[in-house]
Amino acid sequence: MSAPHPLRPAAFDPQAVREDFPILARRVGDRPLAYLDNAATSQKPRVVIDAVADYYRLHNANVHRAAHLLSDEATAAFEEARAQVARFLRSPSVEQVIWTRGTTEAINLVAASWGGAHLRPGDRILATEMEHHSNIVPWQLICARTGAELVPVPVTERGEVDLAAYERLLDERVKLVAVTQVSNALGTVNPVPEMARLAKGVGALVLVDGAQGAAHFPVDVAALGCDFYAFSGHKVYGPTGIGVLWGKRELLEAMPPYQGGGEMIETVSFAGSTWNRLPYKFEAGTPHIAGAVGLAAALRYLEGLDREAVVAHEADLLAYTRERAAELPALRPVGEPRQAAGIFSFLLGDAHPADVGTVLDQLGVAVRAGHHCAQPLMARFGIPGTVRASFALYNTREEVDRLFAALAKACDLLL
Ligand code: PLP
Repeated sequence: MSAPHPLRPAAFDPQAVREDFPILARRVGDRPLAYLDNAATSQKPRVVIDAVADYYRLHNANVHRAAHLLSDEATAAFEEARAQVARFLRSPSVEQVIWTRGTTEAINLVAASWGGAHLRPGDRILATEMEHHSNIVPWQLICARTGAELVPVPVTERGEVDLAAYERLLDERVKLVAVTQVSNALGTVNPVPEMARLAKGVGALVLVDGAQGAAHFPVDVAALGCDFYAFSGHKVYGPTGIGVLWGKRELLEAMPPYQGGGEMIETVSFAGSTWNRLPYKFEAGTPHIAGAVGLAAALRYLEGLDREAVVAHEADLLAYTRERAAELPALRPVGEPRQAAGIFSFLLGDAHPADVGTVLDQLGVAVRAGHHCAQPLMARFGIPGTVRASFALYNTREEVDRLFAALAKACDLLL
């Protein structure tokens, strides 16, 4: 065995990291909080809360414009945050990182800008049946405007992309494949590099929705083989209202602006305007500066941990949850993806998922119940929704035990 790398971070201890997240000490009624709704949004470590507060307390000013110290400091923090994101994504350059409000806005940007410029009647966009509404509806909107067609890629009973069906759908009509790295409803980890390779075979672009993936795995946009990658700050331990679109430079250069306003222009006259260079061409208006600073703090926090150990810890939580689930006869998992991350979706007998969620909440266990903004996937399984437990790096096996104690109670009350 080789000696440990001298710079390797200290071994990962979920109990110790819990101390970094003040909200985890909260109580729900007279019970401690077991927060298992991380796919909706993750909690924030103190370093993120402090970075946002310090920004407003000490440095707040508008960026890029004013000739004073605070503006210089705000601009430096804002652009350093962009550089941090570029490192996080292994982006070849900082200019390919565009700030958005989140994954939703990033996908809307690509659909409206790239789609509006390139899609023609007869063209096709493929999106898997497991996509979040954010990776379906923007494509429907642009298809309605351009005459292109949005075609679903089927999902199997296991909750995996049907790769044979995907291959059959790929032909020269397909201009873009929209695929989630990890399903927010089932936890399925999609074979994105393989899907991207196949898409390239017919000359299609690939947009990866990284809203769930970025929280669980180190990201490398080149290894994924994608042309666009979108993620949200609030799901990777950062603030809400900030997110990122990453794109290949030549595509971004050729795309028209998404919104007009300040910052995105080079010159403006009533005769016509010219556009700023990347990334500012896509950043009209005053950005969410504090959000960017907070997101950078979150990414630094994540990168300060032993990521391999975090991945292993989250895999252990999921394996343990599946083991415990097998002991509860009333519990029916929805989907059984062979590659999964951080999410366990299920039904309890014929109880309505919302009722299960309410009982769990009364016992201090926070989960999500419903369609998870994935109605086509729910329709695929013929169900209105599921109960979803979703994990973050600070969750523990004890919390999984609390989930199952609460589910036993829900069985008594509801079945
Ligand atoms: N895509 C997936 C897979 C998601 O899980 C979510 C949020 O739940 C989104 C997109 C939308 O993210 P946001 O609401 O942060 O824009």
